[in-house]
Parts: sequence; C-alpha cells; structure tokens
Amino acid sequence: MSLSRPALAVVMAAAVTFHAAVLAAPLEPTPSPTLPAATQSSAAVVAQVSFANQDDLNRMAGDLDIWQVDHGTRRATMLLMPAQVQRLRAEGRTVTVDVQATARLAAWPVQAAAQPAEGGIPSFPCYRTVEETYATLAQLAVDHPDLVQPVTIGQSWQSVTTSGGAGYPIEGVVLTSQALPGPKPVFFLMAAIHARELTTAEAATRFAEQLVQGYGVDADATWLLDHTAIHIAPQTNPDGRKKAESGLFWRKNINDSQSCFFDPNGVGIDLNRNSSFRWNQCTGFGCSSSDACSLTYRGPSAASEPEVQAVEAYMRAIFADQRGPLDSDTAPADASGVMVSLHSYAPLILYPWGWTQAPAPNADGLRTLGRKFGFYTGYDV
Ligand SMILES: [Zn+2]
Repeated sequence: MSLSRPALAVVMAAAVTFHAAVLAAPLEPTPSPTLPAATQSSAAVVAQVSFANQDDLNRMAGDLDIWQVDHGTRRATMLLMPAQVQRLRAEGRTVTVDVQATARLAAWPVQAAAQPAEGGIPSFPCYRTVEETYATLAQLAVDHPDLVQPVTIGQSWQSVTTSGGAGYPIEGVVLTSQALPGPKPVFFLMAAIHARELTTAEAATRFAEQLVQGYGVDADATWLLDHTAIHIAPQTNPDGRKKAESGLFWRKNINDSQSCFFDPNGVGIDLNRNSSFRWNQCTGFGCSSSDACSLTYRGPSAASEPEVQAVEAYMRAIFADQRGPLDSDTAPADASGVMVSLHSYAPLILYPWGWTQAPAPNADGLRTLGRKFGFYTGYDV
C-alpha cells in the first residue's frame, strides 16, 4: 500500500496465530510504566541515546518510548524522564538531550489553538477528529454501497458507563466487492488504541479511502477488494482520543474508576495492556503496571475494558480459530488472515509473541511477513 507515510509502528499478527492475533498483539515501545501522563509531558526530555546493537535496542524498546532510530550512528531518539536519563547514563550509555525538541515538547499541550475552520484537530488540521473520521466512513458507505459496509464494533468506556449520550461507539467499515461472493481471506486493521498516536487513525482512514477510490482504477486496490475482506477500525479508543484532541498528551482510555489524586489526567487503562491473552503474565521491562496512574496500567482484570472486549469479540467473529489450544500449537500452512494494529511513531514492525521472548509458533512465517511489510515501509523488523 502506498500511504503517505507517517512513521508508524506496525504491530502485526497473522491469523495463522489466531490467539496472537486476537489476544497478544506485541507491545510497542512504551514510556516508563511508573509515570503518569501529565508528569511525562511536563518533565520529560527528548534525547539521543547510544545502543550497542539490534539486541540491545530491542531490550530498550520494551521499556522506553523510542521515537526514531539511526542505525548508522547507533543512536536512538527517545522520550525520557530524568530518572531514566540517570539510569541509562549509569549503564554507560551516551545520553544527549535535544534542547530544541524538548522545548517543543514543553509547548504541549496545544489546547489554546482553535478548531480549524476547515476541520481537523486543533494544531493538526490534517488529522480528522473522531466525529470527522466516522462521518468519512459513513459517507464512504453511502457513496459505495457495493464496496463498503458500515459496522459498529462496540462502545467506549464512557458510552457504556454513562447515560445521556456521552462516549462514543467504535465504528468501522468492511471493504470488499459485493459482486464477488466470499468467503474471502480477512484483513483487520485497527488504529489509535493509544489515543495520542494521532496519525494512526488518519492513516487507516486514508487507506480505506484509497482502496475504495482506487477500485476499478488501480489494479492493486481492485484485486484487494475483489479477493479479500478488509475490516478497518480507525478509532479504537475514541474517549481517549477526544482527550488527545483537546491538547492533552493522553494515551489510555478514560476509565476513572481508580483515581490518581496527584494527577487527574493520569487515570485510565492502557488498552494495549488489557487483552485477555496472557494478561499480567508478561515479564521483563515495560510489560505492564499494576499502578492505576501508570501509562502502562493493565487494568483490574483481563479484558476489563469495553474497548478491548469489543475488539476481541469482533476478531473472534471475523477470524476462524485455526490453531489448537496450546501456545505451541502451529497453524496449518493454508491458514489465512492478518491483523495489524497501528502505533506511532517508532518506525518498527513488531510481530508475536509480545509477552515472552520465546518464538511464537509459525515464527518463520510471521517474520517473513513482517519483513515484507518492512520492505515496503522502510521500517525495522
Ligand atoms: Zn502505541
């Protein structure tokens, strides 16, 4: 696909490992699991940090919010809290604070900016809001009923817990040519499960537009819609996204049933740590946190959040479970289906497992698919 190319982290899981696809999307690089969001945005610095090799970088990626990697100089740009700077320097690494980038970060939040007249998010007019994203999906379905079916995947936490119309549905579309009957292999693209990763929802929405507008014109788009069913959910954390659209550096959902007394903006559950598969079983740096104010708070129980429940149920409905019950069970060679979760903005392709360093079944196939994605995007695999 030839999207205009914001740097994303593509977390992918082929449905050849269905459990992985539904339940164990790998964890993308994260900020420190012990720090609340507001603290991060106000005290963090942007810095270049040295690393020895790919393995060393991978170890850091589990714990740190890596933004960019330069393999030539072996320097990674990342967001760091002062304690992390100290720790990395104590490990013997070179840590160079980028003063200008840190100053730009300090200028966040940007809620003083007005809603752009032409639409979009304040200060980011190229990125559609939740409402504008949903309007685009609805209009695509109206304009192309032969190619686009609207689907409501579920509801946000606020929608489930609050009366009076607050909160949001999780809307999506299914793209396929109705003229050619299925069954067809399924691709599921989800985005913006981390609210502040603004570009991911826009990339997913533009992908939908590109496919539909390219049908009958572009050979690749035509083939894809003729022979696959493409499910796209651009806004899988709409409550959190609205916080981010207001200028807050918001990552989690907005479940405030556990409060953060010192930081009202620190509440919420990291939906990317709340999946039912191996919940709270990941070990090592940056897996998840039991601290409700942490950026990687896993939630009180497995799949406790309505957004996660919705996505898991939806994926169970669209993908056949093609593996046995054990983690070690491989999928058959003719298994089909792929899911991708878009994150921003470490340019990385991550594939299962996420909860353990051990290779997943079908690891060779997953790695090969990941390398193909990496070839087209230029991202590290
Ligand atoms: Zn993310």
